[in-house]
Amino acid sequence: MKLAGRALNISPSQTLAINAEAKALLARGVNVISFGAGEPDFDTPDYIKDAAVTAIYAGKTKYTPVAGILPLREAICRKLEIDQGLKYKPEQIVVSAGAKHSLYNTIQVLVQEGDEVILPSPYWVSYMEQIKLAGATPRIINTREENGFKLTPAELEEAINPRTRLLILNSPGNPTGAVYTASDLMSLQDVILKYDFSIISDEIYESFIYNGLKHISIASLSPEIKERTILINGVSKVYSMTGWRIGYAAAVKEVANAIICLQSHSTSNPTSISQEACVAALNGDQGTQRLMVAEYTRRRNCILKRLAAIPGITCCQPGGSFYVFPNVSAYFGKSYKGKVINCASDLAAVLLKEAHVAVVPGVVFGNDDYVRLSYVCPMERINVGLDRIADLLGKLT
Ligand code: PMP
Ligand code: GLU
Repeated sequence: MKLAGRALNISPSQTLAINAEAKALLARGVNVISFGAGEPDFDTPDYIKDAAVTAIYAGKTKYTPVAGILPLREAICRKLEIDQGLKYKPEQIVVSAGAKHSLYNTIQVLVQEGDEVILPSPYWVSYMEQIKLAGATPRIINTREENGFKLTPAELEEAINPRTRLLILNSPGNPTGAVYTASDLMSLQDVILKYDFSIISDEIYESFIYNGLKHISIASLSPEIKERTILINGVSKVYSMTGWRIGYAAAVKEVANAIICLQSHSTSNPTSISQEACVAALNGDQGTQRLMVAEYTRRRNCILKRLAAIPGITCCQPGGSFYVFPNVSAYFGKSYKGKVINCASDLAAVLLKEAHVAVVPGVVFGNDDYVRLSYVCPMERINVGLDRIADLLGKLT
């Protein structure tokens, strides 16, 4: 069967592939410690599950408006106003099947062949493929570890040309945990307004923030930048609802309407039952969420301490998300059982095969000097995983 160029040009999601591989090994009885995908290990809180069960028995099992039910879009507006002081109308909100879907829709309606999308690297794997799927060209900017992996205004300005249509910013970031401060965002805003292009602000990790940092949405800086921003968020991470598949975009009506139109011909509405559950999630008590973040903070401190004790590994302090992104290049050129390790992908393969520890090689995020570890497993397993990593690295010759 002949496939379209679009299909031939796309790679499968490696974060999901590594997750599936680790789960398959576990199912076969191998005690794999997975620092793979960023999927919270907590169960979805009961008050959210209860709302879904109630919705099923209340017959909320039919098509809904394509953009999502009004109570959910209102709850999202309320959340954005309370947390960020951002005022949106429900008609500016489009709910989709996960933030990944919201991003896909947004990129599809904003860019096309001949357009460039500025993508700071290290970047989350799906941005790259989604830009390509839209026919646009990713313009990668390699951010620097000494800048906390944050894009500087000078780097942004240098990458701009007449084809520039869009910048994708992710704060707190996956995979690096970089958090942009208000002043970082203000100086990027100046450049964006000067050259007048759009920005996707992916804020899916907004609640996972440490060291007294505060999440700032670039959209909150001025009406001018809000008009150019498509804010993306969702419930997967913050309420441990990865499988429920709800994310959303907030944007000017023109963009929201284009997304609704696209979605009306692809998935139609996101699952009606999940939408009802999300109304409960957003309007309910946010206490469980705070407990989860407190636990992530403990894990983050533990994993950073353990990594710092491994010779040769350096790790930038992540301000947010639930990932660490250590540099492992000091081990390149060494070997294990005759296999030479030349890059993070080689190291990740050896760690999985020989130590039964799953990590994501940085190549997936644009830099194979690093590996990504998510800390979405219990503390005891984090410690066992770090013991295994330290042990294996110590055996490299
Ligand atoms: N953005 C980033 C940066 C992510 O890491 C993820 C992964 N979950 C998503 C968006 C998509 O999340 P979901 O589709 O589960 O809402
Ligand atoms: N976003 C998470 C990750 O980066 C989950 C997997 C995915 O959607 O890519 O691991």
